Amino acid sequence: MPLIAPEHSPTWRPRTVLTHSGMLRSQFEETAEAIYMTSGYVYKTAEEAEAAFKGDGIRYVYSRYANPTITMFEERLRLLEGAEAVRATSSGMAAVFASLACFIKKGDRVVASRALFGSCNYIIGTILPRYGIETVFVDGRDLGAWEQALKGGVAATFCESPSNPGLEIVDLKAVADLTHKAGGLFVIDNVFASPLLQRPLEFGADVVVYSATKHIDGQGRSLGGAVLGSQQYVSEFLTPFLRHTGPALSPFNAWLLVKGLETMSLRVDQSCRSALDIAKFLEAHGKTTRVLYPGLESHPQYALAKKQMTGSGTIVVFDAGKDKTETFRFLNALQLARISNNLGDSKSLVTHPATTTHQRLKPEERAELNISDSTVRFSVGLEDPQDLIEDLEQALKAI
Ligand SMILES: *Cc1c(COP(=O)(O)O)cnc(C)c1O
Repeated sequence: MPLIAPEHSPTWRPRTVLTHSGMLRSQFEETAEAIYMTSGYVYKTAEEAEAAFKGDGIRYVYSRYANPTITMFEERLRLLEGAEAVRATSSGMAAVFASLACFIKKGDRVVASRALFGSCNYIIGTILPRYGIETVFVDGRDLGAWEQALKGGVAATFCESPSNPGLEIVDLKAVADLTHKAGGLFVIDNVFASPLLQRPLEFGADVVVYSATKHIDGQGRSLGGAVLGSQQYVSEFLTPFLRHTGPALSPFNAWLLVKGLETMSLRVDQSCRSALDIAKFLEAHGKTTRVLYPGLESHPQYALAKKQMTGSGTIVVFDAGKDKTETFRFLNALQLARISNNLGDSKSLVTHPATTTHQRLKPEERAELNISDSTVRFSVGLEDPQDLIEDLEQALKAI
């Protein structure tokens, strides 16, 4: 799309890609990425406008289609992920919906792992069936269940790994192979791992989806999303779908996100280190009954997590208290970690999934996902980990 080639070198390592790649420097030679806060573009002549509409992609024509600040964000993320093509969206949920809705049609089948974020579950379990799409949920950890469900053929498989909030791990290589044998595309929501800790395309995934609201912005400022995949998938299906349905990212938010990418590796690395300290502290503490963290040997899928992730993530999940009353007392006693349903932020955030993000599910569905009334999701931020541990320690006394 851009007329000027964005900055990049194929020899750059991830941290260099995150600080430089995708930069489109204007004639003013600015240091920082510019915000092109414009909805449209002008043409010197009517002929130029005619040519722009004829020749798809030779210049910017309208910011629902493309915008230079959004291109910078898209390119930087694409080059980090190693994908052929990318499109940014206004939120993570717009990305999830578009990633599927752009190519599936009436009569198709979608097979998804049951352990999903509430809104992903709503799209696949409630919205898609209304359009005549058959959806099947399986235990994402059980390869036999995937195999069985895929016998009927499939247009798309979908999963989160690690899942929100149960931190279930799906064997990406195995599910990619099974999906391809059944003739479908494997779509993965890679939010919990972030592009730094897990590279699904290398395991055979076809489409990778992000909520950029999480680790990419990582500073609680902006919603955003992205879908990455092959050039063919993006040009044939995704781009026309987004162009005509319009979940476009604001150029200002794209600027926040491209600047978020610059510091993402420093932030995610630090949060991962702190998360492991906190998980170990909680595991040793008498008042927590279950601590889940992919970097703890006690995680039921520790070996698989190690095989496909290069870090264990920024989220720790645990049960604290014997019932909702005790767990609420603990949450209310926290002074540094704040109660919020967001995650992947520089500030540590705690969530009670049963009454917030997964409130809509029936109690038996929550039980299937290992979400009890005592389950706490802790998104580890950038504070000094010792301060976070002291905060947890004093709040656990409330139980
Ligand atoms: C937050 C989240 C989303 C949705 O992203 P938004 O930017 O809030 O729309 C999708 N999937 C997962 C796993 C998430 O955590």
